[in-house]
Formats: sequence, C-alpha cells, structure tokens
Amino acid sequence: MTLQTPVSLSKIRILKNYSKKLQKLNINTLEDLLYHIPHRYEDYSNTSPIDQVQPGQKVTIQGEITNAKNQYLRSKRIKAIQKVTITDDTGSIDLTWFNQPYLIKQLPLNARISASGRAGKSASKPTLMSPQFEILSDSNNTIHTSRLIPIYHETKGVTSKWLRRQIHQLLERHKDEIAEHLPIEIIKKFDYPTFPEAVRQIHFPKSLESMIKAKQRLSFDELFLIQLSNLKKRSQWLENNKGIPLNFPKYKTQINKLINSLPFTLTNAQQIALQEITSDLSLQKPMNRLLQGDVGSGKTIVAAISMYLAHLNGYKSILLTPTQILATQHYKTISRLLSPLGTKTDLITGNRKISNQQNLNSSAVVGLQPAPEQFLNTDIIIGTHALLSEKIKIDNLALTVIDEQQRFGVEQRSLIREKGKNTHLLTMTATPIPRTMALTLFGDLDLSVIDEMPKNRKKIKTWLVPQEKRKSAYQWIKNQIKQNKTQAFIICPFIEPSESLQTIKAASKEFELLKKEIFPDLRLNLLHGRQKPKEKEVIMQDFKNKKFDILVATPIVEVGIDIPHATIIMIEASERFGLPQIHQLRGRVGRNDKDSYCLLFTETQNSETSQRLKFLETNHSGSKLAELDLKLRGSGDIFGTAQSGFSKLKIASFSEPELIRSIKQEAKKIFPNLDKHPLLQEKINALIQAKISPD
Ligand code: ADP
Ligand code: MG
Repeated sequence: MTLQTPVSLSKIRILKNYSKKLQKLNINTLEDLLYHIPHRYEDYSNTSPIDQVQPGQKVTIQGEITNAKNQYLRSKRIKAIQKVTITDDTGSIDLTWFNQPYLIKQLPLNARISASGRAGKSASKPTLMSPQFEILSDSNNTIHTSRLIPIYHETKGVTSKWLRRQIHQLLERHKDEIAEHLPIEIIKKFDYPTFPEAVRQIHFPKSLESMIKAKQRLSFDELFLIQLSNLKKRSQWLENNKGIPLNFPKYKTQINKLINSLPFTLTNAQQIALQEITSDLSLQKPMNRLLQGDVGSGKTIVAAISMYLAHLNGYKSILLTPTQILATQHYKTISRLLSPLGTKTDLITGNRKISNQQNLNSSAVVGLQPAPEQFLNTDIIIGTHALLSEKIKIDNLALTVIDEQQRFGVEQRSLIREKGKNTHLLTMTATPIPRTMALTLFGDLDLSVIDEMPKNRKKIKTWLVPQEKRKSAYQWIKNQIKQNKTQAFIICPFIEPSESLQTIKAASKEFELLKKEIFPDLRLNLLHGRQKPKEKEVIMQDFKNKKFDILVATPIVEVGIDIPHATIIMIEASERFGLPQIHQLRGRVGRNDKDSYCLLFTETQNSETSQRLKFLETNHSGSKLAELDLKLRGSGDIFGTAQSGFSKLKIASFSEPELIRSIKQEAKKIFPNLDKHPLLQEKINALIQAKISPD
C-alpha cells in the first residue's frame, strides 16, 4: 500500500469504511488525507498543576482518574451528566459532560488521562466542561490534548478527532514513503524544515513557530510544483508543436486599414495585446497565449484581427466557443467585419455548416454535413466543440482561438490541444484573475491583459440593497420594465459549489414565487444548468428577442452572451460569491447606451461582509476586484464554482507576491535538469496527470 492507494482500497478497515464520507472532503487517496491540512489550531499547550487552574482559563490538566460516574436526571434536555474526578499531586478537578453516558466506559478508574478545555468559572471546585481528553500512554505523547490541536474541515460523521487519529497513524505507517523531494539547496537557502518534518509539524506542531515554518515550506512546495509542472508542460508543448510564422510587417497596411474602418478606436490595452500577439505569431515557435479581459473589454476584435492576419498570410483560423449562441454571435460579427475584405467565414454548430454566402435567417442554412473539401475556400471557421470532431480536418490551419476557455471541460480542453496542434493558440477568458495568480497557475501560457474598458462604456450602477428595501426594489424593477421596456436578470442563491439538485430546487421555488406573487403581470422564465443545451439556447434566444421580461437563473448563466436590452441584474445572497464572480455576473448588463443597474442582496447582517460587497458600488475593474478579494479572503475560493476550471490551492496563497517571485527564480534554476531529482519529478508528473492547473 502506498500513499497513492485510494482510500477505498486501503487495507485499514476503518479507512475503507469511511471512504465515501472522506470523498466529501475531497480525500480520495491516502496522500489526500495527508494533505488534509488543518484550517486552524486550538491552543491547549498550557498544561497546569490542578491547583493552579484559574476559572475561565484554556488549560490542560493531567492526572489519575479517581472517580467516574453517570448521574441520571429526570430532565428532558439533560438526561445524564458525566462526572469524572482527576487527581494529581496538587489536587483534584471535575470533568463534566452532558448526555454522553458511554464516555464513562472509556474512562476506567486509576487510568492516567490528559484533558484540555476551558475551566468553569463559578464553581466552588474547578471543573472542565466537555473537555477534549485522551488516556495517556507510557510515552506521554498526546494528539488531542496538551498541545496545539489541529482542527480540520469536517463533514458529517468525520470529526477532527477522528481525522487526527487517522492522520497520526498514517504518518507512522507511511514514514518511509514520506521523503524529501526538494533539492537540498533550497531547503538550506530558505531554512525550511524537511518534508517529513513539515508534514508532521503542520498536523501536530511542537510550537506555533514550527507550525508556521512548516506552512511556509509546504506553501513553497505547492506553488513550486505547480510552477515546475507548468514549465514542463510548456516545454512539451514547444517540443510537440510547430507554429507557422505569420508575417506582420508585410501586411501592416491592410491590418491598419481594417483597424481604421472600425466604428471605434482600439483602446491602448487592445493595441498592446495585439502587438504581443502579432509578435508571437511571427515566430516559428507556436504561440500559447492567454488573453484576459473583463466582459465587454473587446477581446473579440483582437482575435478577429489576428485571424485576418492569418488569412492575409494565406492560412486558416478556427474560433471555438462553448455555446452555439456565442458561435452564432461571433459568426455574425466577424463575417460582417471581414467579408468585405475578401475573407470567407464558416459556422459549424452541431453537425451543420453555414456558409457566409447564405443568409443566416433563411431556412436554407440547415443540414450540410461538414466535409474537408468544404473548407477549401474558407478562411475562418467558427464553431462549438463540434469543430473538435475527428471528422473535421482542416489543412493550412495556423491559428486556433478559444473563447471563454474556462467553460470547456477537461476532456474538451485536451481535444482542443490536439486540434490546435501545430498551430498558434490564443485562449480568451473574462475570468478576472489576479496577476500573480494567473502567472503561476497559467505559467505555461503567456499572458496579455486588457485592463481598460472602451471609453464610451457606462459604469453599471451598483447598490447593496438592505432587506427592508426589498419590496421597493421589486416595485422599482417592475416600473423599469414597464416604463423603459427593459429586461432583468434575477440570480438565485448559490447553495453549493456545483450546481446541485438543491440549488436547482431553490431556484425553481424562487422562480414560482416571483412569477406568482411578485411579478404576476410580467413574463418570467427560468434557466439552470440541468436543462438540456437546446432548451437553454431557446430560452436565451427568446430572452434576447424580448419574448419575456425577467430571466431567473442559477449563478451559472451563460457567459459571453449579449442581451443588449437587459439593463438590470439582481443578485441574491451575494455574500456567497467572490467579488470577481459578482463582477462577472453584473457584466451581463450594461451592453447598450442606457443606464444599467446591479442590485445586490445579502442574507447576513455581518458588517465585514457588507463592506466587502460595497466595494462593488465604487469599483468597476475586474482585476482590481480580484486583487481586493484575494486580500480580503485569502486564496480561498476566488472562483468558488466549477466555472474556474481548476482546483483550489491546499496550503499556499496567491496573496504573497514575494513567495511567488522566489518560486519562479528557483524553478528556473533547476529546470529542465530534473533528472537529478527523481522524487520531485514524480510529484510533477503526478500533478500534470491530475490537471491541477487549467490547460
Ligand atoms: P468581450 O471582451 O467581453 O468578448 P466583446 O469583444 O464582445 O467583449 O466586445 C464588446 C463590445 O464592445 C462589442 O460590441 C465591440 O464591438 C465593442 N468594442 C470593442 N472594442 C471597442 C473599443 N475600443 N471601443 C468601443 N467599443 C468597442
Ligand atoms: Mg467575448
């Protein structure tokens, strides 16, 4: 049995029996259990002689059990009190529990015990109420008392006490396997504890200092491994791919002509991104670049210009989108823009192909099977994952663009990589990611950021609405819809990280309530993740065509889609979102020249929370909000939902730019000569396999 063994296959019966429960904590292998890091510690390191115990004190006492009994009461709430007397050289103290009669069996007379808890305040004789306890062994080693006690994230039936015991045994059982994998020079340079030491100290620290040291070491580890795996992915990408160099200077005039024909001027940020992209494209080395920019910052035009450059060089491009509506939207925009310049664009969704000679709205567009020869004269092919089908072979492909890449699943992403093989790759996302985080997590990509909105854009007026104003908010929405002919989104509470049945139930209930009681004279519709793709698209299309007034949706509303008439978004339980997520949600509105509004509701009275949410009233930059969120909430769940496409960090935080800088330096020093560090290499490979970072 190794640490990689799934818990469900463990030879240890208790672990095996608990494997389902542990899965809820994301613990699938023994190693995951080892990496189940305490989220805090209870300090019971103060061990006191019994006669020195002060009321109110957090304390540990050790001594012999001199009395232990159940005291049964006739009360309804308290049926039995457990009273246990402990005696040491200085005196005796009572331990008290309620309604746990079985405890007495675990506490035999004369046994030596260690107990930690808070001393009772008013009793004539000192007592410890419901303390943690353990019977002392000969070695006097403790894990539940008399030290810094690790407190873990728990789930039903899995307590911190249980986890402590299992992790303690695991550390013993797999001692030989828990070996150092970092180069010794790094350990020395940063004065880190070794890996075995760090793992032990993070769970069962000798002192606060050694816990902090362990945490630093393991944080370094985590980010260092991500960084190295990124470097490795990048070098594999370069090894296995060849890019087609695209000449930019030669076609500069034509490109400028296109840019000058636009009804707007490009923002500085767009121009810089474009420069970065065209300079990448001119190399033999294939581009692998992430273009990050807020919703509405104008990523599409940057992609379109790049694809036009490919066309001028005599090559084809594809543009992949996560949904059909988005593909259609892009198809319309891009063919309108580029066909006057002699570029031919095709749209593929499902198994249909629509050519730009045909009118999109005519019925003649359906039913063509894509075949390779049909792309002979096409320059730009736009489509959903249908484009990834093996049947579709595109010769002379130089550039692959992926829009809203975070929306593609892991499998699709690897298909995209396959499809995009030997082409330049441009991925686009609106997910606001703090720069430090992006550089680490997406370390195998180059990053361009559009951090500036087009000048004509209006800010979305954002308010945190107090509960007592809910009624008037509904009334206001009603008036807006009736008088200004606008449309509104209502985003339902986010109950669990993924779109569980519970979330959907809650949304459906909310939908019924809104429809019947609040907005009986308006037209409402409901959108959630468990609907069929077709159904979802019809709803979105209907909304776009103003066939109804209010779209009630779970937080997973379609990204990137333009509903130009909607000017109101109302978000329930907004405290459950990170600031960047809310920012992304509110980007659904504000897409025309009218004023747009975002109404935030929260279910808590907590002033810290409202302060956090109030940042949205004055702050309108996604990356700023992401940085802010990172500072306020740590690395926790910036993204919260499955939307982000990557798992959370277990230990490290991205709010430490210093750490990230030194990690990059150290990684550069040893890469690519990993042969000298076989254990490290093993870990990196495992990480690449696990696809911790998005690709
Ligand atoms: P996103 O980055 O969210 O994909 P889009 O590319 O869809 O944003 O652009 C949103 C809208 O802004 C489009 O209608 C586009 O034509 C317009 N747009 C893009 N760049 C500019 C600009 N520099 N000035 C004004 N409008 C722009
Ligand atoms: Mg877009």
